[in-house]
Amino acid sequence: MKHKPANQIQDLQFFGEFGGVNPSISDSSTYTFMNAKAMMDTFTGEQAGCYLYSRHSSPSTQYLSEALAKLENTEAAQVFASGMGAISSTLMQLCKKENHIVSSRTIYGGTYAFMKHFLPEFGVETSFVDITNIQAVEAAITSQTKVLYCETLSNPLLEVADIKALSKLAKQYHLSLVVDNTFTPLCISPTQQGADIVIHSLTKFINGSSDAVGGAVCGSSEFIESLKDVNHGAGMLLGQTMDTLRAASILKNLRTLPIRMQKHSANALYLAGFFESLGLQCAYPGLQSHKGNQTFQNIGNAEFGCSGLLTLDLGSIEKATQFMELMQYENVGYLAVSLGFYKTLFTASGSSTSSEIPEDEQKEMGLSEGLVRFSIGLDHDIKRTANKIQKCLVACGILNNKTQIEVTA
Ligand SMILES: *Cc1c(COP(=O)(O)O)cnc(C)c1O
Repeated sequence: MKHKPANQIQDLQFFGEFGGVNPSISDSSTYTFMNAKAMMDTFTGEQAGCYLYSRHSSPSTQYLSEALAKLENTEAAQVFASGMGAISSTLMQLCKKENHIVSSRTIYGGTYAFMKHFLPEFGVETSFVDITNIQAVEAAITSQTKVLYCETLSNPLLEVADIKALSKLAKQYHLSLVVDNTFTPLCISPTQQGADIVIHSLTKFINGSSDAVGGAVCGSSEFIESLKDVNHGAGMLLGQTMDTLRAASILKNLRTLPIRMQKHSANALYLAGFFESLGLQCAYPGLQSHKGNQTFQNIGNAEFGCSGLLTLDLGSIEKATQFMELMQYENVGYLAVSLGFYKTLFTASGSSTSSEIPEDEQKEMGLSEGLVRFSIGLDHDIKRTANKIQKCLVACGILNNKTQIEVTA
C-alpha cells in the first residue's frame, strides 16, 4: 500500500499524564528506579522501556522521534540538537577510517564543509559528483565507499535527485543511501524510492516557525539503535541531544505540516509561473522548463506539490543585493537565511549559505553570484505579493515598465 505520511501523522495519539490532549512534558534530566537491578539492566540494554537519562532519550524526544518515523515510513527515528548534528552523527556512524563517501556536489554548505574539511582529518574522504549524472555517480564508487549522499532537492540549485535510480546503485554496491529531505518533507518520501536513511533539519519546514534548531535521522531500528549505543553510538557520544521542551514544541508544529506544505508549494508555483512569464531566469521544479520536473513528478507525492523553494538569477551580486533590500523594504519578506517560515525569506546563496563552497567550484556547478534563493511564505494573497515583487523588479531596472503586467486579483 502506498505510504500516506499526512494520515500517519494525523493518526498518532499521545496523551498527557492527566488525560491531556497533548503529551505531558517530563521536565527531568534523570529518572529514578525502583531497585538497583532494574537500573543496571537498563544500562546494559537487557531491559527496555525505562527512561534513564535525558541525553539517551526523554518522553518528549521519543514522541517526536516516533512521529518523524511515521512521516518517513521508517522503523525508527532519533532527534538531534540540529540538522548538522543529525548529519555529522550519521556520517561518523557509517564511516570509519579509510572509508569513502560519494556525495552530490550541490549540498548544504555546512554538510559540504563537514565532508570536505572535517572528515578527512578522521580518514574519511568524499568524492563530489553531479548527482543527476548516474554514470558519474557510479564511476566515483570505490571498494572503500560506504555511503551515497544527496539532498532530494539540492541547495541552492534545486536539482532533483533521482532517488529510485540512486537506490539501485546503492543496492548493487552495498552502500547506504542517505538522503537529506529538508527541502521536501511530505512532497517526497525518499524511503518509498529506496533510500535507507532520511535526514531532516527540523529547523526549516517541519518546525516552520523559525524559532528553534533541530534535526532528525529516520532509518531502520538497527541503525537508530547503533546511533544510541552507549559505547559506540555517535548520537550518544557526540552529545547532540535535543532539549525536551523543544521536542514538545516541534511536535505540536509538525501537526500542521501538511497544510503548510500545500500552501508553500501553491504559492511558489504561482510566483515561478509569474516570473517565467516576465521572461526572468527562474528555477522551480514545478515548472515544465525545469530540468528536474519529470523526475520530481515520478518520485513526488503530487498532492503536496514541489515545495516552497525557487531561485531567480539576476546576473550580478549588485542587482541581487539591490533587489533584496528593496523587497525587504516593501515587506515582501525578509533578507534572511533559512527556509520554511510563514514569511518569504530570501538570500543570495553564493555569498551566504553556500559560501563554504569555493568560488571556482560554485562557477563550475552553475551557482551564479546573482542567484537569489527564495523560500516562499504562506502569503494569503499571493497575487498581491507578485505585484509587490514586480514593482521592486521595475524599480531596480531588471524589468522596464513596458513588460509590466498588472496582476488582477
Ligand atoms: C539547514 C540545513 C541543514 C542544517 O540544519 P541545521 O538545523 O541548521 O543544523 C542541512 N541540510 C539542509 C538541506 C538545510 O537546509
